[in-house]
Formats: sequence, structure tokens, C-alpha cells
Amino acid sequence: MRLLVVDDEPQIRRLVQTGLAGWQVRQMKTRWGSCNIERKSILLNLELAKKPVACLEYIIVHELLHLRIPNHGPVWKSLMRSHLGPYEQREERLRQIVGLDRTL
Ligand SMILES: [Zn+2]
Repeated sequence: MRLLVVDDEPQIRRLVQTGLAGWQVRQMKTRWGSCNIERKSILLNLELAKKPVACLEYIIVHELLHLRIPNHGPVWKSLMRSHLGPYEQREERLRQIVGLDRTL
């Protein structure tokens, strides 16, 4: 499993090219993350701080890509793979670790 390196500047720059204008961390009951396409911002659940970094990275990339692609179609999946490698493994790990009760 490939991990995003937080200080990998080129990779972060590529992700920020999704047009991110802002982000917030908030305690949420039903979601691990969300995005607001009109405001170009993402919202992350504070609870992710207690989870493995791989889970946080998955949510961040997932939501950032939604700023460009609002669905989980082939283009979104292809971009997920280009940023995170075989992201499905990470998705499954996320399901096991954080549960399915908080949707994306
Ligand atoms: Zn999604």
C-alpha cells in the first residue's frame, strides 16, 4: 500500500490543483468527510485524528477529487488510483477500522 507523504510537495501541489479554497475540521456524527463544490472546500471529521494516517489520507484525497468529479465513476476511480495506488485496499481497511456507519 502506497502512502501519501504529507511533506511530498509535488504530490500535495497536484492535489491542491483541484481548486481547494479552504478546509475545516469538525466533529460530525454521520460522515467522515464531505465537500462543498460551490465553495471549493472540504470538511473533515475530527474523529479521523484518532485513526491511522492511511484513513485520513483516503478521506482527504476522496473529498478533494470530488471538487472536480462529483461521482465515483471511472474518472474519479482512475484519479484515486493515480494518487493512492490500489485505493480499494485502503477503502476496505477504512471500512474495517472506522466502520460503515459514517458515509462519504
Ligand atoms: Zn464520495
